[in-house]
Amino acid sequence: MFNQAALQKGEADQTAAAVHAREHSKQQDMDPDEWLLCGICGNRIARTADRVAVEGQHEHRHVNPEGIAFHIGCFAGAPGGSPVGEESSYFSWFRGYSWRVLLCTACGLHLGWLFVSSGHQFHGLILSRMVQEQGNISH
Ligand SMILES: [Zn+2]
Repeated sequence: MFNQAALQKGEADQTAAAVHAREHSKQQDMDPDEWLLCGICGNRIARTADRVAVEGQHEHRHVNPEGIAFHIGCFAGAPGGSPVGEESSYFSWFRGYSWRVLLCTACGLHLGWLFVSSGHQFHGLILSRMVQEQGNISH
């Protein structure tokens, strides 16, 4: 005969992971020195304050000749990116602009493109390859 005691102990929930709830600190959208960081190495790429609108909007979605879609944001400056290679007008997404590839100065990740026309330039940065800097990192 089976006579198992079916004692139900009120077991505490001991899943260690479940206890670890982390709260995000409030982000201050007004901080002019908020940066977008390289998603790989954390290098400071561009200030959010340097966002600009090109052809009427800041964000653009384009497809390159290989069929890869990119979601980019336009920035007046990108101190953490360095343009490499030849200037090209091939398949340029912006009328009148040619482009150069823009790499992270620290790790070489392809971050986007520098778009250049006569008298004007801007940086088109791939938004998914960057992360927003948290406001209260202090080292
Ligand atoms: Zn990097």
